[in-house]
Amino acid sequence: MGEKYKHFETAVVHEGYDSKDHVGSLVAPIFQTSTFTFDTAEQGEKRFAGQEEGYIYSRLGNPTVQALEERIAGLEGGEAGLAFGSGMAAVSAVLVALTKAGDHIVCSQGLYGCTFGLLQLMKNKYNISHDFCAMESPEQLSALIRPETACIYIETPINPTMKMLDLEMIAQVGKQQGIPVVVDNTFSTPYLQRPLAWGCDIVLHSATKYICGHGDVVGGLVVGKKEFLNSVAMTTRKDIGGIMSPFDSWLLLRGLKTLPVRMDRHSQNACRIFSKLKNHPMIDKVYYPGDPNHPDHHIAQKQMKQGGGLISFEIKGSKQDAQKLLNNLKLIKIAVSLGDAETLIQHPATMTHSVVPEPSRQEMGITDQLLRLSLGLEAWQDIWDDLQQALHSLAAGYK
Ligand SMILES: *Cc1c(COP(=O)(O)O)cnc(C)c1O
Repeated sequence: MGEKYKHFETAVVHEGYDSKDHVGSLVAPIFQTSTFTFDTAEQGEKRFAGQEEGYIYSRLGNPTVQALEERIAGLEGGEAGLAFGSGMAAVSAVLVALTKAGDHIVCSQGLYGCTFGLLQLMKNKYNISHDFCAMESPEQLSALIRPETACIYIETPINPTMKMLDLEMIAQVGKQQGIPVVVDNTFSTPYLQRPLAWGCDIVLHSATKYICGHGDVVGGLVVGKKEFLNSVAMTTRKDIGGIMSPFDSWLLLRGLKTLPVRMDRHSQNACRIFSKLKNHPMIDKVYYPGDPNHPDHHIAQKQMKQGGGLISFEIKGSKQDAQKLLNNLKLIKIAVSLGDAETLIQHPATMTHSVVPEPSRQEMGITDQLLRLSLGLEAWQDIWDDLQQALHSLAAGYK
């Protein structure tokens, strides 16, 4: 949290906005403007030279976008925030800012599919190589660090297999080696997990997911030190241009206000469905961060407030059976993305992780039988009834 608010639930409503600054408007106004006028030519000169605070052009900064940036910075406990037109715009702006041709990145064993695609592109075009690491011990991680290693890039829990990494341990290795640690915190949100508090350097989000919470915005957010974010704002964001619109920022400010309430419900629903799935005869494996028997449970207990709203599970059967299960569902929607009010299910091997070549996919534990479920806000009994009937029809199909 920022200095101003003691509790997350209060900061999520108030941080970064004061109605006194905007003629008493309770809600942050949408500054739907591309550019800002200068009083004089000299003022324009000063603003461009950075000698006077103030807005210039909405690709460089906009008051509605800035309110969101200050709010997320406060929630993650960072100095500053930056908003982007998508999670991938945020990931690419950060990775391009941190690296140059010939550099190297160490990443978690398992990454969002398009982040994997971006790393592949950076390798092919700019000879920026990467190594995957299980990061189970400081020695294992340190062994992969080279003089040209520019950053450590991780997700935890890892999408979609829910393996967890110890943020404190990784941050310590980063500090010892003088390498920044970047964390994709999309799955947990700052309500469940705050990587900067463990010593990590940069946190980013696909705001499309839980931060928005209503499935109506594609956006990205980054939080970190002011100096680094200023440099990103004036290079990879300004010149590559993946900015967020004022309207989308306004929707995210609105979505954020209910984040703690929503996350509690998503997590409760996931706990209930997890306990049902793990005892079902058609299910082989269930991966859930809140599982007390999860091999990384001690990590979840240390750094996560709750288990979150995502469960992955493997059914007994083939790829066709996994697809049949999806087709049998009535309430639960087949869709990628996560963190919405609606419960969503997807097949990572043919959807979010289809860009990952088969051998890497197997290494990441993404089998053809694996499904990822994003628990919505519906009554858990209705979600379970739907899953149960779909599993039942699948079992009947074997006869
Ligand atoms: C969705 C997602 C992204 C990419 O975000 P977009 O908003 O779709 O560009 C990155 N990381 C994770 C973990 C995601 O779930």
